[in-house]
Amino acid sequence: AGTGLIRHDAPLNEANIDPDAAKVVRRLERSGYQAYLVGGCVRDLLLNGRPKDFDVATNARPEDVRGLFRNCRIIGRRFRLAHILFGGGKVIEVATFRRNPQVENPGEDDAPPSYDDLLIRSDNVFGDAHEDALRRDFTINALFYDLDRRQVLDWCGAMQDIQRRAIHTIGNPVVRFREDPIRILRAIKFAARLDLGIDPDVYEAMVGCRDELAKAARPRIFEEILRLLRGGAAHRSMWLLWETGIMAVLIPELSAFLDDGDATDGGADRFWRSMDIIDEMTKERGGPLDDVVLFTTLLREPLEEATSGVRDRGQATLEFIDPIIARIALPRRVADAMRGIAALKPRLWTAARSLPEGEVPRLGRLARSEVIVQALDVVEIDLRARQMPAVGLQSLRRELPAELYDRSRG
Ligand code: ATP
Ligand code: MG
Repeated sequence: AGTGLIRHDAPLNEANIDPDAAKVVRRLERSGYQAYLVGGCVRDLLLNGRPKDFDVATNARPEDVRGLFRNCRIIGRRFRLAHILFGGGKVIEVATFRRNPQVENPGEDDAPPSYDDLLIRSDNVFGDAHEDALRRDFTINALFYDLDRRQVLDWCGAMQDIQRRAIHTIGNPVVRFREDPIRILRAIKFAARLDLGIDPDVYEAMVGCRDELAKAARPRIFEEILRLLRGGAAHRSMWLLWETGIMAVLIPELSAFLDDGDATDGGADRFWRSMDIIDEMTKERGGPLDDVVLFTTLLREPLEEATSGVRDRGQATLEFIDPIIARIALPRRVADAMRGIAALKPRLWTAARSLPEGEVPRLGRLARSEVIVQALDVVEIDLRARQMPAVGLQSLRRELPAELYDRSRG
C-alpha cells in the first residue's frame, strides 16, 4: 500500500507485442501524449502468454485520440473509449487515464465502508497514470509498459506478484470486492486460466463477500461465468467456484448436486469429467465452444436429475431453468436452446453411438433443428465424459451443410 513507482528495465520479449498496438502507442507519443500498453496484455506478456488483445492507456482525451487516427471510433456512454480498428477485425482499445472517484486511497483503507458507500454508481473521472493503475482490481492487472523506454511501470508491487504467481487485490480485498463483487469471479478466472495462486487474505475475502454477488448486475454475472467456461480452464474454474461456496450463491442447483457427490449415481463425476472435455475441445478447436453448448453441459446433470421420471418433462425443465434465468440472467436464447437440445438428445445419443459395422446413423429430420450443431457437441461431450465410443458422430455431422458450422463458430 502507498508504494511509489518502480521501473523495471527490459522485462519482456517485445517480439510478442502486436505491431499495430505499438503503432498506436508510438503515434500518441509522437503527438506529445503519454501512452502505455496496460492491463491484461502486459500481464500475459510477462507470464509468457499470448495476449488475446492489447489495451492502451493515455492522457489524451477520446476526442484527441479520434483526431489522430482515421480508423477510430468512440464507444461507450458512461465512460467513453476510443477503438482503433485494423484489418481482420482487430481492435486496439485506447482509454484515457481515469481514477476511482469513490475511493481516494484504496491501498490505505482498512475499515471497510458499507456496501452502499462503495458501490460504484457514478461515472469514472479522468486522472493520471498512477491513479489509473490503482483503480484496477488486481496487482497483476495494474502494470503499464513503456515502449519508448522498454520499462514496466509498477506502482503496487505487481512485479513481485507476477514472479510469485499470486493474485492480490490492490488494497483491502474486502473493500475492493464490496465495491464491485464481479471482481470475485475475475479472481477465479485469472487463478484458473493462468494457474496462479490466490493470496490467503484474498481467498478469505472472496468467501466472506460471496453473498454480495447476489446484488451484482446479473448480465455481468452471466458474462463472467461464460468467460470461466470459455477460457480453457473450465474445470479449475468450476472447482474454485464450488469450493469457495460462490457456486452456492449463483447456481445452488448445481452446487447442491455436486455436494451430494456419491449420491448422484456418478453424475458428479461425470460433471467434472465433462468440464475436462470442454477444456480439451477448446484446445483441439483452438477457440471457445458455443455458449449454448457450455451452459447446457454445465447444467445437464442436475437438470437430468430434476427431470428424470417426471411425468411432464418439459414442464419440469422449465421449473428447473426459470430460477436460474432470474438469478444469473441466463438469456432466453440460451434457455430455449437448452430445452431444444434436451428434446433431441435421446435420439441423437443413440445415433451417435452406432458402430461402423452396424447401421449407418442418419439425422433425417433432426438435421433441420435450429440447435443441431450445438446438440451434437453436447452429445460428444457427454459420450466422451462417459468414455463411450462416439463413432456415429462423424457421419451425423457430415449430413449438415458446412455453413451451419461457420455460423455457430463465429
Ligand atoms: P482478459 O485477458 O480476460 O481480457 P483483462 O485483464 O484484459 O483479461 P479485461 O476485462 O479485458 O481483463 O479488463 C482490462 C483491464 O481493466 C484489467 O486488466 C483491469 O486492469 C481492468 N479491470 C477490468 N475489470 C475491472 C474491475 N471490475 N475492477 C477494476 N479493474 C478492472
Ligand atoms: Mg482484456
